[in-house]
Amino acid sequence: MTAALAITGLSASIGGKQILDDLSLEIPFGEVHAIMGPNGSGKSTLCHVLTGKADYSVTGSATVGGQEILTLPVDERARLGLLQSFQYPTKVPGVRLGEFMIEAAAERGIPPEEAEQRVEREAERFAMTRFLDRSLNDDLSGGEKKRSEIFQMAVLEPRVALLDEIDSGLDIDAVRQVSEAVEEMRSPDLGVVMITHYSRILRYLSPDRIHVMIDGSIVESGGRELADELEEGGYESLRDRLGIQRPSTDGPVRKASEFFTDTPFDV
Ligand code: ADP
Ligand code: MG
Repeated sequence: MTAALAITGLSASIGGKQILDDLSLEIPFGEVHAIMGPNGSGKSTLCHVLTGKADYSVTGSATVGGQEILTLPVDERARLGLLQSFQYPTKVPGVRLGEFMIEAAAERGIPPEEAEQRVEREAERFAMTRFLDRSLNDDLSGGEKKRSEIFQMAVLEPRVALLDEIDSGLDIDAVRQVSEAVEEMRSPDLGVVMITHYSRILRYLSPDRIHVMIDGSIVESGGRELADELEEGGYESLRDRLGIQRPSTDGPVRKASEFFTDTPFDV
């Protein structure tokens, strides 16, 4: 069956620095996958490369519902159903959430009557109905804000939803609330990629699969037990088990030969 998102041999670099290194990953329709990794491992870069928002030099393939996206402009990727949360203004006083969503839907060619139906349906699903007449994201708690962002995505009916650090900066009750919203997103026509640095959201969320990203590659995939291992020993003990070199505290480890590659020997 065609996957919601299939990434094969994806490498990306910027300014001569390689960030993604031969990364492969498949998210079937109907599933929620978590990608975990230490700071700087390339998780946000993966989102940027997939959505096409920055100028990386990219090789490899990424398909949404079987269609290659890496050669497409940003808006076409979104039209194919690849959406990342937090791409909307976080605070727009004066614009009501309900109106804003109908406009956002219109921009994607969704007729107003259908948009209204979707807004109503999704607001109910994500318990956002009472926020529809309020100013966009104004005066929402951390958890409500993230739930609102998930609701906003859902109105646009994505086929792949990228949620980058949706749990960061939230207290534990808000984390629980956001996990419920992510579970609520599940649909047979959608693959969800939930990216996080911390394992604590996985106490409340049961992804179908957990992937660990280190140094720009997926180094391990598994189930619940992988989250438990990370919660107990952190990324360092996983590095040790997999035999991945620990990062040096004073900059990247460099091979001696690197220092000589540019040295002319015409003495
Ligand atoms: P994560 O989201 O996992 O914390 P990022 O994808 O933000 O990691 O960053 C991965 C690495 O790429 C980091 O070392 C970061 O400094 C580097 N990086 C990100 N963007 C750029 C850029 N525009 N130019 C150079 N290096 C970058
Ligand atoms: Mg990040």
